[in-house]
Amino acid sequence: MTELTTLTLAEARDRLRKKELSSAELTAAHIEAVEKARPLNAFVLETPEIATQMAKASDARIAKGEGGPLEGIPLAIKDLFCTKGVRTTACSHILDNFVPTYESTVTSQLWRDGAVMLGKTNNDEFAMGSSNETSYFGAVQSPWRREGSNTPLVPGGSSGGSAAAVAAQLCLGATATDTGGSIRQPAAFTGTVGIKPTYGRCSRWGIVAFASSLDQAGPMAKTVRDAAIMLRSMAGPDAKDTTCADIAVPDYEAAVGKSVKGLRIGIPKEYRMDGMPPEIEKIWQQGCDWLKSAGAELVDVSLPHTKYALPAYYIVAPAEASSNLARYDGVRYGLRVPGRDISDMYEQTRAEGFGDEVRRRVMIGTYVLSAGYYDAYYLRAQKVRTLIKRDFEQCFDAGVHAMLTPATPTASFGVGEKGGADPVEMYLNDIFTVTVNMAGLPGIAVPAGSDAQGLPLGLQLIGRPFDEETLFSLSEVIEQAAGRFVAQRWW
Ligand code: GLN
Repeated sequence: MTELTTLTLAEARDRLRKKELSSAELTAAHIEAVEKARPLNAFVLETPEIATQMAKASDARIAKGEGGPLEGIPLAIKDLFCTKGVRTTACSHILDNFVPTYESTVTSQLWRDGAVMLGKTNNDEFAMGSSNETSYFGAVQSPWRREGSNTPLVPGGSSGGSAAAVAAQLCLGATATDTGGSIRQPAAFTGTVGIKPTYGRCSRWGIVAFASSLDQAGPMAKTVRDAAIMLRSMAGPDAKDTTCADIAVPDYEAAVGKSVKGLRIGIPKEYRMDGMPPEIEKIWQQGCDWLKSAGAELVDVSLPHTKYALPAYYIVAPAEASSNLARYDGVRYGLRVPGRDISDMYEQTRAEGFGDEVRRRVMIGTYVLSAGYYDAYYLRAQKVRTLIKRDFEQCFDAGVHAMLTPATPTASFGVGEKGGADPVEMYLNDIFTVTVNMAGLPGIAVPAGSDAQGLPLGLQLIGRPFDEETLFSLSEVIEQAAGRFVAQRWW
């Protein structure tokens, strides 16, 4: 039975279609894997009854010769996606036992296409973090460990539960969101594939908002092909989100395996950082060589405003967060802590409901938006954002099809090891990923090698707006050359 959890999404789909396998069997194997993996803390809510029922309905549809592109496929859902009738908390105490009366557009499209829900995955509180340690439900442990060591490692964040669930083979894919790197960084840390599509590719309706001008949903999967299959179902126009683009969704899977001959790949010199581990340098060079042997042309490019991206992001994102999180006041959702009067009730509720990192963001955000500081910080950061976007546009206008960079400046690190004394230490994880959100571009992380301690390392490919297809073609070249990275089971 457990062998079924080693299938890729594409393999499982093909076997289900040929009726060599039932969704009931496939789902049961994954439910069992989820239960056995509780030490990872990847799930904050398991929904085995719902999964079993959905699997049964899928089998009935397959028997009738019906069924969608994801029919019978068990998936995990980040706890940032509202799921109708199923507790959704964004891993914050303030949402407590919130049970949405509606389904997010992205998840409703997955169910429309036949997918099966295994449960809700852990994440940093309101998706603020890079290690999944800010979750109200506690840290997630990566399925990866350093060779010869039992030190618990982080799976990255904020989508740490989704990353761990995919890497530990507890599901065939998972949804995630990415505001500054939350899909790509955990993918790189866990040897999985994660794509943040172009801003506007997936609807944000029904996803708990962090920073609305940066947030995007995307899949995390075992392979590039699996990510392509999932994204096709997740993406598409939605009248309920005015920032969701009215652009038809291509068949992403068709881009997997397509020749990359003649594509021009930019190598931005600003992504070569002082103090970067030599292993990251090495896999970056290796990635260049692989793409070159597949017929792509490499060109040196410059994105001169890169160094301002992280500081600007940590102004824009908290500013939007402070405004988005104003709605959690003890009146409409979740937690309410009684007070002397209504203002006191708001204060008590927010003080008790939000964790330290969220409070820090609300304070920073309120500060940079306040009269007198708005022009100095927020407005300036917005101008920097325009310059970052322009850097990319100039390269694309000059004929570059995509860029290749490292996904993260380091491999995964130990639980409790970073950011304790200085939160900026944690923020530095996002140095290669935030630029992509600031510019609204698509970015994919694909495993490309390991460090000396056996931990996976990822590369990032950044594409032109709405050209996720080129990213799938290019990342598959890297995947084919690098092979897959599967964690050894210790749980
Ligand atoms: N680590 C970044 C932050 O804490 C990005 C998080 C995300 O993409 N949701 O803001």
